[in-house]
Amino acid sequence: MLLKHGPVRGIRSGRIRWSLNSQSVCYRLGDTLIDTGPPSGWRTIRRFVKEEHARQPIRKIIVTHHHEDHAGNAGRLQNLLDVPVFAPSECIDRLADGFSMELYRYIVWGRPSRVQAHPLPDQISVGFGHELQKVPAPGHADDMVCLYEAKRGWLFSADLYITARPQYLRYDEDLEQLVASLRRVRELSLDTVFCGHQGIVEHGARAIKRKLHYLVSLCARACALREAGQSSEKIRDELLGNEGLLYYVSRGDFAKQRLIDACLDGSRETPGRLAWQRAA
Ligand SMILES: [Zn+2]
Repeated sequence: MLLKHGPVRGIRSGRIRWSLNSQSVCYRLGDTLIDTGPPSGWRTIRRFVKEEHARQPIRKIIVTHHHEDHAGNAGRLQNLLDVPVFAPSECIDRLADGFSMELYRYIVWGRPSRVQAHPLPDQISVGFGHELQKVPAPGHADDMVCLYEAKRGWLFSADLYITARPQYLRYDEDLEQLVASLRRVRELSLDTVFCGHQGIVEHGARAIKRKLHYLVSLCARACALREAGQSSEKIRDELLGNEGLLYYVSRGDFAKQRLIDACLDGSRETPGRLAWQRAA
């Protein structure tokens, strides 16, 4: 499905359409492709990229983090277009050497192609007068960055947003870092957010604030229930309900319990407590 917002164009792809996470969006701005979609969406991506390249040449690719639904076609596209790939320096080894993945990830997103990427600079020109700033945004993944077009207030948010009310935390996500990244991005002057799964999110500043507020209040509610003597399982039940389909499909990689436990952990007498207790 083609997405358009001014000069930004995007395509959603992926084999399975059962949730927001199972398909992802890559975007084109100026002469640059931002993220490359999952290997399971390769035919859709290839068609999109060929058409875009014929319209105006694509001269480089940026990937926002190493996950296979964002960087999974970077190697194939590098071969197709013969252009450089830029990536956060934290994931260059993983993109070149591969990394271990659970079975459901192969089934939903497919096996990523390997690629030799260059370190993404702090600021990069993407042509047609657009500059993108690198904004570190760990939490969803340790290497993730967002890309900010300051003149237009556009944020290519990778997987920072996805939804304002997440119910699950994945095993490799860090809630405290995620909240810190949302706070960092909240300081930017934002108009539109280009999300890696949701697509184009109008009123981006409001969306980021809504997610931040939800997570901080979820934590406060979890802590209040613990102080009232409830177990973490009871708290999950009360605030998020039973584990859902995503928990079983991912064999527990995505878990509501993990989100609640992370809320409770972040409120202990550690530096995390200060991070959580600042107002959303
Ligand atoms: Zn991701």
